[in-house]
Amino acid sequence: MTDPLIDRRARLLGPNVPTFYDEPVHIVRGEGVWLWDAAGRRYLDAYNNVPHVGHCHPKVVEAIAAQAARLNTHTRYLHETILDYVERLTATLGHDLSQAVMVCTGSEANDVALRMAQAATGKTGLIATDNTYHGNTAAVSALSTRRPPIGGYPPHVRLVPAPDSLAPLGGSAEAQPEAFAANVARAIAELEEAGHGFAGFMLCPFFANEGFPTLAPGFLDPTVEVVRQAGGLILADEVQPGFGRLGTAFWGHEVLGFAPDVVTLGKPMANGHPVGAAVTRPEIMAAFRGAFGYFNTFGGNPVSMAAALATLEVIEEEGLMENARTVGAYALDRLGGLRHPWLAEVRGRGLFFGAEFVDETGAPATGFAIRLVEGLRAEGILAGRIGRAMNTLKFRPPMPFSREHADLVLDSVDRVLARTEVPR
Ligand code: PMP
Repeated sequence: MTDPLIDRRARLLGPNVPTFYDEPVHIVRGEGVWLWDAAGRRYLDAYNNVPHVGHCHPKVVEAIAAQAARLNTHTRYLHETILDYVERLTATLGHDLSQAVMVCTGSEANDVALRMAQAATGKTGLIATDNTYHGNTAAVSALSTRRPPIGGYPPHVRLVPAPDSLAPLGGSAEAQPEAFAANVARAIAELEEAGHGFAGFMLCPFFANEGFPTLAPGFLDPTVEVVRQAGGLILADEVQPGFGRLGTAFWGHEVLGFAPDVVTLGKPMANGHPVGAAVTRPEIMAAFRGAFGYFNTFGGNPVSMAAALATLEVIEEEGLMENARTVGAYALDRLGGLRHPWLAEVRGRGLFFGAEFVDETGAPATGFAIRLVEGLRAEGILAGRIGRAMNTLKFRPPMPFSREHADLVLDSVDRVLARTEVPR
């Protein structure tokens, strides 16, 4: 039976609000890693990173409710919670990233980061990879490659080839770091030649939207060297890998082993309450504040900060980073044991893992990956796809995901793989 909400949604929200799945899921309740639809059917959420510490975590719910009942206002008044939060947050960053602009979304955080780079350098040129997404403001959309901007990419933006697991730049995994850096050096030279100069390179340190290719620690070292030599900033978009998801470190840039100039945050930061941030060094912040009179009405409001603080506390109290490490390793190991002629690679880190599918000619098996995701949904497992050709199955569950949950997912993947026919 078709859900009447589908037509109503199209009528009221217009066509550009796509839903997942052939048969969209109508979720009405969540708890931990579980979701329930309107008919009472339960789904295991193996996809959503926004409910980072679990759907409707009682501590976060209580923090939001208590603060909402007491006071909510903007940041032009004194309030402790924003300061308590930024203190706790910057302590996890462990180096000189000590000041934050609080915003409401990852897009806004990235918009601020781009402006920080431009203010600090006095240049406008920006670089991103050619297969990414950093958000939806006009400025940030120009670095997001899902749909090119009307009129094409602005002349101060250059997109460099994204790293890849199956087809590494330079022809091998060993050559990929230098090959990636050489393309960045070329882009910087072009920006300088064209008179824009070079302000910064925005990248996700896990290259999550690029399909999370397997990269060795140190992968970015040659690139960081090139960027620093040119006087530009490294802007690390931690919207996806941050807050302990990768298991072995709290931040994606720690896993790769480099120190960014600006870190941007969003999605999982307040467990579903809209909170984002751009964190940087005091001298970059001073340049930013000097160049832009930035004010964000809702950014850093007391309710948002109570939610973000509670989320950070739960990550620590419940040992969720360690859980991501052990359960992620277990899940990846089980995924690696699956056999299918089109399964080209399993990869990931912590609670962000998946598998890429290609056909016998080596072409991306996108249609097959779509059917796998639909097959999993039919079994009550929510998963997703990512990568240049969207042929990589992606699991990125809430952090309280256990071995038992991993077994449920992997048993289901096994069954769905066995019964999904390869197209002839
Ligand atoms: N950066 C990355 C890497 C993202 O994946 C996203 C959202 N998917 C964003 C930024 C934008 O975040 P938001 O939707 O909160 O604006």
